[in-house]
Amino acid sequence: MNQISNKIVTICYLVLMVVVIVMLNSSTDDAVKEHVSDDPSAHKEAVEPDSQNAKISLLNKVLEAIASTDNRPAEPSKDKKENPFADKMSPDVAIAMLQQGNIRFAKGESTHPNLNAERRLLAATESQTAHAYATVLSCSDSRVPVEAIFDAGVMDIFTVRVAGNVCDGDEIGSIEYGLAHVNTPVAVIVGHTQCGAVTAVTHALQGHNGHELERNIPKLIDNIEPAVKKAIELNPDVKGDDIIPFAIEANVWTAIEELFMQSPVTRDFVAKGYAKVVGAIYDIGTGNITWLPEDKTFEILTKVEASPDKAVIEAKHSEEKEPEAEEDKATEKETKDDAPKAEEPKVDKA
Ligand SMILES: [Zn+2]
Repeated sequence: MNQISNKIVTICYLVLMVVVIVMLNSSTDDAVKEHVSDDPSAHKEAVEPDSQNAKISLLNKVLEAIASTDNRPAEPSKDKKENPFADKMSPDVAIAMLQQGNIRFAKGESTHPNLNAERRLLAATESQTAHAYATVLSCSDSRVPVEAIFDAGVMDIFTVRVAGNVCDGDEIGSIEYGLAHVNTPVAVIVGHTQCGAVTAVTHALQGHNGHELERNIPKLIDNIEPAVKKAIELNPDVKGDDIIPFAIEANVWTAIEELFMQSPVTRDFVAKGYAKVVGAIYDIGTGNITWLPEDKTFEILTKVEASPDKAVIEAKHSEEKEPEAEEDKATEKETKDDAPKAEEPKVDKA
């Protein structure tokens, strides 16, 4: 019954989004026509800011409407024992908050929330689990300051940063912590334009002679290489540096696939609708974030659930974890308590 209701709600949301897209297009066209008719000689640059503002204003209203109407009766269980996210906002509301924060930032209208002494006192006295609404994996690049680009503050975002926003063991463990312990209803993998790590790997694969890499960097970039190769394979006509934007997006999808492949608890939360995993690309020049289609995330989840490699990876991880058990008993205990399924491959899940 719940599944049927969920489907109905999903269909309603899809219809709403189609209406929004139509409204946005119509609004943008109107804004452009209006401006052009006022002053036919107006320069192109003068038209774009107005149409963009109209678009952003409308988008804001829609996001607010989505956030305020998110009282879906068929939402996941409210039983805290069954659903650890029961006390949190829904994934869609969390995504809307991130989107609104980024729009404020890109427009130069950041409100710098939750950065005062009162918030710090709250952070020292309350659990972050009661407040943080997103887990974000992004690149270490200094041009991608995570809290700033989402106009967020203390106890808002559980952040994981690593060069090239790759998703490997430590990063996946951190994301699992953000979902299973901090209970953020969304995990966002953020790539960014002009990523140096992705560019370096692309150039290396194109045969450019780079300098010898430091000892630990090959281990880092071996996660990026498959993404760049895939981008080249899917876009055979794109040459030179033009392939880099494709590689940056492919690198985000690869990270999401790795996350699902290695994290049973993440797959479980997403499949039950408790949390969402979304991809995004941050433009370091404009400050705008492009949100990648959520449908593709679910396609990847389906592909991973059907993949026989998943069981092999899980078995390998179980073996690797054993010797580390005594190093940090508390952490290890938490991991085992929260992800018992990690040791039980779920190959046959329908
Ligand atoms: Zn980067």
